[in-house]
Amino acid sequence: MSGSSYFVDEIMGVVAARNPGETEFHQAVREVAESVDVVVQKNSQLAKLKVLERMIEPERQVIFRVPWVDDKGDVQINRGFRVEFNSAIGPYKGGLRFHPSVYLGIIKFLGFEQVFKNALTTTPIGGGKGGSDFDPKGKSDLEVMRFCQSFMSELFRHIGEDTDVPAGDIGVGGREIGYMFGQYKKLTNKFTGVLTGKGIGWGGSLVRTEATGYGLVYYMTRVLQDLKMDWKGKKVVVSGSGNVAIYATEKVHQLGGKVVALSDSSGYIVDEGGIKLDTVKRIKEVERGRIKEYADEHKSAKYTEGCSGIWSIPCDVALPSATQNEIDGKSAQILVKNGCKAVGEGANMPSTPEAVDVFQDAGVILGPAKAANAGGVATSALEMCQNSMRLDWPFEEVDARLKQIMNAVYDQSRAAADEYGLKGNLVAGANIAGFQKVAHAMIAQGIV
Ligand code: NDP
Repeated sequence: MSGSSYFVDEIMGVVAARNPGETEFHQAVREVAESVDVVVQKNSQLAKLKVLERMIEPERQVIFRVPWVDDKGDVQINRGFRVEFNSAIGPYKGGLRFHPSVYLGIIKFLGFEQVFKNALTTTPIGGGKGGSDFDPKGKSDLEVMRFCQSFMSELFRHIGEDTDVPAGDIGVGGREIGYMFGQYKKLTNKFTGVLTGKGIGWGGSLVRTEATGYGLVYYMTRVLQDLKMDWKGKKVVVSGSGNVAIYATEKVHQLGGKVVALSDSSGYIVDEGGIKLDTVKRIKEVERGRIKEYADEHKSAKYTEGCSGIWSIPCDVALPSATQNEIDGKSAQILVKNGCKAVGEGANMPSTPEAVDVFQDAGVILGPAKAANAGGVATSALEMCQNSMRLDWPFEEVDARLKQIMNAVYDQSRAAADEYGLKGNLVAGANIAGFQKVAHAMIAQGIV
């Protein structure tokens, strides 16, 4: 990290004053401001036109009431959010998160990061994010459906296939996208690509389900190549056991690596012989159960209550794929001490700033979320493309495009880091490359 400068201090002063208490948002802005400081110092136009100062203010944010009726007949009230952050290079694009921890600061950190991530994908999409403090866990299908319908009854007026195209995130998978799409269609009488992550057969793209996890592994393959390594025989620890974790594990296994641990918010499992992914898919995708059940079925596995201990398992590569700030400085130190060579962020902002410093000081290559998990949104952009053309591409074609995009994400980040004398710093490289693309478009479009 470049440390604090007058520019960074000024930006952070504004962010803290205008967005009090939104700590995750502050953290996300600080990282970008520290990375692009060097770019702004070199180009006086960026400072004069207050480009980053404009980027940190969302173009629009909507907060709304989401009332619904539970199975007991009681009325429940949740809060819905959609933050439309930046449309300089295309329609707002970014997922919806349903989790009890959701508040404006989380949605803004995710929306802000999305702007740069989407720019890196080489596809024409702006950045946004949304969600609710609704917890789908433990709810019946009908309760989830009623919630999704109520959520969409407000959201529909703010989105559209050419304005804002939401997708999934934590707590929002194929089931939730289906219920929201159905409600959108009923309210508007239009069948359009307004949401991505739709089911196959009604507008969804092949590979979208696998895309974030597969893309993460494609990106990290490039990191390993630079380290003169490949996946064969490598021991890998993946946190989470949701969409990203499952498909990252699948691709690591296909490429000859061995994932030995997975987790959920209750605890983690270790199976030194390699995780049996069929069991995980059934427990998590079909039965919506807990990761603990894996250890009940496989005697080779051990379950431990609590999440952070997962980083004490020795590994060559770590792929945090659960949630923000899940690796703190201490966990990072343990990973380094145990010989971890590379970390690929499947989750958004899973490493605290202290953890990032530990990795970089130790020479552990860190593939930052903005770049490493961009495969999901990139494939969403491919879904939008297929919807506009009213065509479905085969699996191999989408997968090949995904791989090509992840290579481009990596190449741009590495080139930007090299250009600014930050060789090997893929965090700064991703921030600079994403920033430059959005900044260029914003300058061309005037002060709007
Ligand atoms: P899922 O809801 O499918 O899975 C999330 C997983 O992370 C679950 O195992 C969940 O456990 C665990 N988890 C969630 N919150 C916490 C927490 N506070 N502490 C510990 N574990 C937690 O989500 P995804 O796999 O889609 O998303 C995971 C991460 O990847 C998120 O950071 C998301 O923003 C990011 N991401 C996702 C993309 C996608 O395409 N899906 C695209 C790019 C990034 P439990 O079931 O116990 O809650």
